[in-house]
Amino acid sequence: MEQHWMESLEPLLIQYGKRKHPLEYKNRYQLLVMIILSAQVSDRNINKLAPQFFEAYPSINSLAKAAPEDLYPIIHTVMNFGKKSEALVKMAQLIGEDDRIPTTMDELTKLPAIGRKSANIIIRESGNEAEGIVVDLHVVRVAPRIGIAEGDNPEKIEKQLMKLVPRDRWNEMGMALSFLGREICRPTDPDCKICVMNKVCNYYNETLKSFSIRQ
Ligand code: SF4
Repeated sequence: MEQHWMESLEPLLIQYGKRKHPLEYKNRYQLLVMIILSAQVSDRNINKLAPQFFEAYPSINSLAKAAPEDLYPIIHTVMNFGKKSEALVKMAQLIGEDDRIPTTMDELTKLPAIGRKSANIIIRESGNEAEGIVVDLHVVRVAPRIGIAEGDNPEKIEKQLMKLVPRDRWNEMGMALSFLGREICRPTDPDCKICVMNKVCNYYNETLKSFSIRQ
C-alpha cells in the first residue's frame, strides 16, 4: 500500500515538493509574523502589506516594544486584526530577539496563534527536519479526493499522511498537496485533465466511472 502510493505521489513531489511557500518573507521573523497575519486571509493580501509592516517593525525586538494598537494603521484591513495585533506583540515579547526564534514543534506551538500547521510551515521553510506534515484547507480538500486520507479533521489527516509517507518526505508532502489544491484541484471544477495525480485519484476515477455508466 505504502509503496504503491509513494510511487504514485512522486510526480506530485517532483512538481511542487521543494517550492517555497507563497508568503514572500525575507527571514524567519518575517515568516512568523506573516503566518500569524495570514490566518483566514489570502497570502497575496499579506504580501501586499508586508513591506510597510517590516519597515515599521524590522525585528522581533522592535515589535516587542510596540503596543498592539500601534499596529492597527498597518493591519486594520486584515481579518481579526485586533486579536492578531495582541498575539504578534505577545509573541515578540516572549521571544525577544530574532536569533531566539524557535524551530521545534514543541516550542513553536507554545507561542500565541501558532498551531501545528503554522509550526510545520516554519520548520519546513527553515530547512529543519520535519516533525509533521503541513495540513491547510487545501490539503484537507485534496488528500481525501485523491484517496490518501479520510475525513475533514486536519490533525487526523496529518496523522494519516504521516503513516503513509516516509519522514524524509514530510516537508515536501504537505506543501505539494497544498500547491496542487491552490492551482489545479480547486474546490469547484478541479482541472483533473492536466493533474499529475489523475491516474490514481479516487475522485477523478469515480467521476469518470459514473460518467461512462451514464453514457
Ligand atoms: S485528479 Fe482532479 S480531483 Fe484528483 S487531485 Fe487531481 S485535480 Fe484533484
